[in-house]
Amino acid sequence: MTSSNTSANSPIAAEMPRDRLGRALHDLRISVMDRCNFRCPYCMPEATYGEHFEFLRNDERLSFDEIERLCRVAAQLGVSKLRLTGGEPLLRPKLATLVARLRRIEGIEDLAMTTNGVLLPRHAAELRDAGLDRMTVSLDTLDPALFHRMSGGRGALDDVLAGIDAAQAAGYPHGVKLNAVVQRGVNDHAVTDLVERFRGSNIVVRLIEYMDVGNRNDWAPDDVVPSRELIERIDARWPLEALPARYPGEVATRYRYRDGAGEIGVISSVSEPFCGSCTRARLSSEGMLYTCLFATQGTDLRGPLRAGDSDEQLLDRLRDVWLRRADRYSEERAERRNSARRKIEMNYIGG
Ligand code: SAM
Ligand code: SF4
Ligand code: SF4
Repeated sequence: MTSSNTSANSPIAAEMPRDRLGRALHDLRISVMDRCNFRCPYCMPEATYGEHFEFLRNDERLSFDEIERLCRVAAQLGVSKLRLTGGEPLLRPKLATLVARLRRIEGIEDLAMTTNGVLLPRHAAELRDAGLDRMTVSLDTLDPALFHRMSGGRGALDDVLAGIDAAQAAGYPHGVKLNAVVQRGVNDHAVTDLVERFRGSNIVVRLIEYMDVGNRNDWAPDDVVPSRELIERIDARWPLEALPARYPGEVATRYRYRDGAGEIGVISSVSEPFCGSCTRARLSSEGMLYTCLFATQGTDLRGPLRAGDSDEQLLDRLRDVWLRRADRYSEERAERRNSARRKIEMNYIGG
């Protein structure tokens, strides 16, 4: 489908273009920083991202003015959710300033961030004050030695736990979630410990299937633990009940503990791909727009921005990209049709 139609339920968006598979554009993930203070082997392995790796120069990254402008334009096309990510977003100086500016954009209903948490004790409160609605902290294990291995020897587990405490104390209106990437033979044995620690805390743990993002993590299908298997394991210990999705296209499948100790979620991107309802676009730190996490190419928006494009011209560019979109990588993976493509790396594209 390639037509645009006026939004019936969004008072802000002037139009809501549909891509070639009929999907609207609702979410924009922005990598505000390509650098990271971790070297998780599944994302930025040290062997590639060593001291000689060339990250972007400051002037190559989009400025806050440029990010804000693109978000305003995106909101006119139906984007109502923004997520700041990276790399590590908290390495970007004065990030709360950007949050405050994005908060004021008409049509943005949900402003979120994903972080490894190490710098959160310093920033959790100012980010909430600036208007951040929700915080997601990535934490794969509670075992210090395993944490060390899974962060590539960077950061300290205690600092991440302090970051989670700080986020909870800050009182984000839409709460705090934890993301745990589960890899078979690495941390799958420790999942129940992780889940147990946060039962009853109001912090929702989400277990993510290990994905073949980028080209550098040596992903193999056998490394993936299907969410179904984890849910069965957790249910055997603390009985669970499936919850209905809160909105169409919700990425996580949710479960509640039958004893009332809260909920958990699973993100089954490999075993049960959800491309059919994927409404996400991604903006890299240097202003490339991608329409899939597994994209091989994107569209440069920084060039036109810096060459003086008007808002109307930027709107046309974004709309064109979305109307041409036909991505469904994870479904193709399940159909075994996409093994050999050269993908953009996750720290760059924004996880
Ligand atoms: N540095 C921040 C963090 O780790 O939360 C934000 C960026 S990180 C790329 C965003 C999310 O992607 C994290 O929750 C991380 O665990 C997840 N991620 C990274 N590599 C992954 C992979 N190969 N499979 C599944 N999730 C992955
Ligand atoms: Fe950094 Fe996040 Fe990637 Fe780990 S998952 S290397 S913390 S960007
Ligand atoms: Fe969306 Fe691409 Fe992931 Fe499918 S593979 S859900 S299209 S980001």
